[in-house]
Amino acid sequence: MIVIKSDQDLERMRVSNGIAARVRDEVAAKASPGVTTAELGEYADELIRKAGGKSAFLGYRGFPGQICVSVNDAVVHGIPGPRRIEMGDIVSLDVGVLIDGFYGDTATTVMVGVTDPAVIKLVRTTQRALEAGLAEACVGKRLGDVSHAIQRTAEAAGFTIVRDFVGHGIGRDLHEEPQVPNFGKQGRGPLLKAGMTLAIEPMVNTGRADVEVQKDGWTVLTKDRLPSAHFEHTVAIRDGEVEILTKT
Ligand code: MG
Repeated sequence: MIVIKSDQDLERMRVSNGIAARVRDEVAAKASPGVTTAELGEYADELIRKAGGKSAFLGYRGFPGQICVSVNDAVVHGIPGPRRIEMGDIVSLDVGVLIDGFYGDTATTVMVGVTDPAVIKLVRTTQRALEAGLAEACVGKRLGDVSHAIQRTAEAAGFTIVRDFVGHGIGRDLHEEPQVPNFGKQGRGPLLKAGMTLAIEPMVNTGRADVEVQKDGWTVLTKDRLPSAHFEHTVAIRDGEVEILTKT
């Protein structure tokens, strides 16, 4: 069942997602050569706590990190640790926040001194794919319209869509119905209604779409070890235009 949020629920989701967005941006600003991914996780946790929230990911099904930090060929679910960020890295930062009973969820991919045109194109395309999906996310459209717009944007640029991981409904639970695939057909899937809240999160690979989970049990890597990018916004469906709850 897809939960429709009341105005009061949406007000709370604006708070949790607003905090997630601010933390995402502040941690992104810290992602620079020499900084460890563990330091980024600790910094995020400090910011989340100061805002009165708690990390949505720490302890979720046993996940050991405060946020997900996924570098280069890591797609999602990277665990903060001793790895130091280097020039030329792309770093996906995924921030989840729980406050006042509601979740916020957002991600960005930071380019740290990236000069490789193919990598820049990958990151920009993934961001554009998210924007194309957001443009379809309004009352009267179907979920497949969102999925298709994302897929078309990524594939038209020569990249592939990760299929093993998808976006999701969000609210009082971190993962609610429906699943939000980044691939699909126009005009298919659930009708979008006012008050639905969705985390839309394209994961786009340079090479093949295949991924595998690393030995740590969490980090999702591209099978061909080529770079992958990830962006995520949590949105509220409305008449006319989508409301992005995790806007900067
Ligand atoms: Mg998510």
